[in-house]
Amino acid sequence: MDRTSRRFGQFELRLLKDGIFEAFSKVLTHTAGAEARQAAIAALGRRAFSIDVNCFALRGPDGPMLIDAGTGTAWGEALGHARAALVAEGLSAGEIRRVLVTHLHGDHALGLFDGDEPYFPQAEIWVPRADFAFFTDAQARASLPKARQGGFDIAERLLRLYDGHVRLIDPGEILPGIELHALPGHTPGHCGYLIRGEPESAMLWGDAVHLADLQAADPDIGLEYDLDRAIAAATRRNVLAQSAREGWLVSGGHIHGFGRVRSSGSGFEIAPT
Ligand SMILES: [Zn+2]
Repeated sequence: MDRTSRRFGQFELRLLKDGIFEAFSKVLTHTAGAEARQAAIAALGRRAFSIDVNCFALRGPDGPMLIDAGTGTAWGEALGHARAALVAEGLSAGEIRRVLVTHLHGDHALGLFDGDEPYFPQAEIWVPRADFAFFTDAQARASLPKARQGGFDIAERLLRLYDGHVRLIDPGEILPGIELHALPGHTPGHCGYLIRGEPESAMLWGDAVHLADLQAADPDIGLEYDLDRAIAAATRRNVLAQSAREGWLVSGGHIHGFGRVRSSGSGFEIAPT
């Protein structure tokens, strides 16, 4: 087993890298205001940065599943490679029984679609109820700029293309050995998945952390993509603290590989493992 494949309880977990996302440092935010934001940009030390985009394959007693689905063909050639990674893993789209979604942003959910067809024809799509409620709320849509409305289109397309095969899920145990954890802020219903194992479990925290070094050291650093920055920062600090306390292995939508969290000064460190 290479370092991207791990066993937790009854599940074998494999990170599928969808590609690389590039952004400018000006998307950084800080809950303490403009000066702290400038300090965070200076600490990043470059005008632009690249982060991995990941999803995960999970083999278990009920057949193969995914956690998130990557970008599909929607975000250009630097992305969309999770589909080939799935095939390299020996799995076809038609074999996937469930896709567990962390939140309804394009780099996590557009891979569910193949134009006007479902890309996973046999799959049930499990979506955190609070995220689905937000992204189907017309008033919420109207309150946001166009560039932040993609999730509403995704929710609409999900209902249309997976008609009758969308299941809304709430925090707690959703399957034996898998827990849904509410991690609000990035989006209102954003969630992580905990895969229970002995002696260690894996927390896949979606977009709670995008920049492992910077945001672990100072969880108040956010990105413009966080819809509620104060709640996202509090969530980030909580999930980092809990991961350190519980000894969870961590990964997510934008972490490189797997890591382990430990306290460091007023913040945390994520050591690759
Ligand atoms: Zn996101």
